[in-house]
Amino acid sequence: MKTITDSPEETGKIGEDLARRLPQEKREKALVIEMRGDLGGGKTTFLKGFARGLGIKDNILSPTFVIFRVYDISFGRYKKFYHFDCYRIEEADLSTLGFKEIIENPDNIVAIEWSERIDSSLFKDSVKVDMKFIDENKREILID
Ligand code: ADP
Ligand code: MG
Repeated sequence: MKTITDSPEETGKIGEDLARRLPQEKREKALVIEMRGDLGGGKTTFLKGFARGLGIKDNILSPTFVIFRVYDISFGRYKKFYHFDCYRIEEADLSTLGFKEIIENPDNIVAIEWSERIDSSLFKDSVKVDMKFIDENKREILID
């Protein structure tokens, strides 16, 4: 699905809609959402709406400096939402963060900004969201 949005609010709404449409069938591993694209492309903005769609009331802060944040959720069969930002990550960091365990647990939804910076063989059937900067207020969002 490809959309062009004209405001941050509209991008948030697309994120919220994606959350509402997530598969609820039993799976073997976490549900991974890969967020790619330009700096300022709107990945965090999208995920704020996504988190709202999961029923999270807290304000979502960008985890750029902390690598990830985790939120308790009760969204169908999902229990936790992990928000990663891998912009500053070194491969070695991932193992100390327990990343493998996090993505193996089917109770988790794991959104990863800058997933292109980590080993993509870790997630096979992820949802991929690509965000492109068109101009100051326009972004192209590709969901695959
Ligand atoms: P990223 O996480 O990809 O670096 P952010 O979501 O942090 O991007 O930042 C996007 C910036 O662009 C925000 O300041 C937001 O207000 C602005 N913006 C302007 N138009 C849009 C749009 N259509 N969609 C998303 N963000 C937009
Ligand atoms: Mg961001």
